[in-house]
Amino acid sequence: MTYSAEFRCIAGCDGGYALDQVIYRCPTCGDLLEVVHDTAALGARSPEAWKRVFAERWGNANADEPWGSGVWGKHEWVAPQLAAKNIVSMREGATHLTPVPRFAADLGLGDVRVKQCGTSHSGSFKDLGMTVLVSMVKQMIAGGQTIRGVACASTGDTSAALAAYAAAAEVPCVVILPRGKISTAQLVQPLAAGALVLAIDTDFDGCMAIVQQLAEKEGVYLANSMNSLRLEGQKTVAIEMVQQLGWQVPDWVVIPGGNLGNVSALGAGFEMLLALGLVDRRPRICVAQAAHASPLHASYRASWADLQPVKAKTTLASAIQIGNPVSFKKAVRALKAFDGVVEAATEAELADASGHCDRDGLFTCPHTGVALAALTKLAARGEVTRDHKVVVVSTASGLKFADFKVGYHEAKLADVPSPRYRNVPVELPESYDAVRDALDRGLASSAK
Ligand SMILES: *Cc1c(COP(=O)(O)O)cnc(C)c1O
Ligand SMILES: [Zn+2]
Repeated sequence: MTYSAEFRCIAGCDGGYALDQVIYRCPTCGDLLEVVHDTAALGARSPEAWKRVFAERWGNANADEPWGSGVWGKHEWVAPQLAAKNIVSMREGATHLTPVPRFAADLGLGDVRVKQCGTSHSGSFKDLGMTVLVSMVKQMIAGGQTIRGVACASTGDTSAALAAYAAAAEVPCVVILPRGKISTAQLVQPLAAGALVLAIDTDFDGCMAIVQQLAEKEGVYLANSMNSLRLEGQKTVAIEMVQQLGWQVPDWVVIPGGNLGNVSALGAGFEMLLALGLVDRRPRICVAQAAHASPLHASYRASWADLQPVKAKTTLASAIQIGNPVSFKKAVRALKAFDGVVEAATEAELADASGHCDRDGLFTCPHTGVALAALTKLAARGEVTRDHKVVVVSTASGLKFADFKVGYHEAKLADVPSPRYRNVPVELPESYDAVRDALDRGLASSAK
């Protein structure tokens, strides 16, 4: 059986475009493109057969193809025409679905799990999309197309993931940043991977405008999330979570959103599971935004009014500090299909929710904190209840946001003056008695 997929316009214009064609927008109307699969061909294999295939591949490190990758274990559903020899994989995905029973009980909920997308090669879910995009670039080059390199205008996780996969593929990588507005921590991953880092005297939007021009005129391939190849990799998160739940659909999925590509991908993954008969119901989806950058939340509260771009204010959840989300239309379409809601979290709410869930042994990033804060609100309102099975999508490793963690526990975050889950070291003299007393006091208070 041969499977196939192509780009099509989300507004429904005629025409399909090969996935190895350099095209980012509909040539007729300028709208976003999406990847559409030949579901009739995929449907020739029964749902039970697909489940068996996916189960055999999960964690398999000994195959010719990187089946153990969460993305490439779903190869036919992601990018069927991509040849195995061109795949650039770092064994991304197949991440743990971690139960957080204490957090759940505190909220009055039952089964809550965190999908740990940040425990991945470069430390965020962006790896899931970049393995697909960079593999396709490798195939385009192998097929004789001239591509001078891949480029993006991101400042955080996107550039880290792109630089890593491009290095592995031996494809030159260009990262365009606003000069002086980026911390060393955000810079160091692409620098370490040998990317050409261009720091421009402008803001993020200025960088975005320049990189789009470079993509049009200079033969570099655009890797920002306008490129829907990335969403094909990211949609495997939906497939993985139901596979891990024994092919049960959760009642709720809560996901942080900035540029809104990831929630669109989540929706696409569930649509495909439904279309191919592997599941027969839909979860409800909640997108969680930082209150400082919440244009989707504003639209939702105005009955899905058109996007009003905002100037995003600084937030601890820096990867979702976006006021003009590229994938707004796709996200609204997904949320309408999944009876979706949108929540917003203040800085104190997101920081405390992150600290709260860490008490189950996690080390959550601030964006995951936004999602956990949204769940806290949905539980308080009684919209999510004890009977519901809930999955919270964690988007990055907390280890990438050590300043946030340290600031929280030292109570040094400006917008979080009294952190509820603060924990500090007990400083003592070199005295056995003092240490024993501190042990007794400490264990007595934690037993309460
Ligand atoms: C990119 C990113 C997001 C937001 O994803 P979008 O597709 O832009 O909505 C959330 N969290 C982290 C850690 C990210 O890197
Ligand atoms: Zn169009």
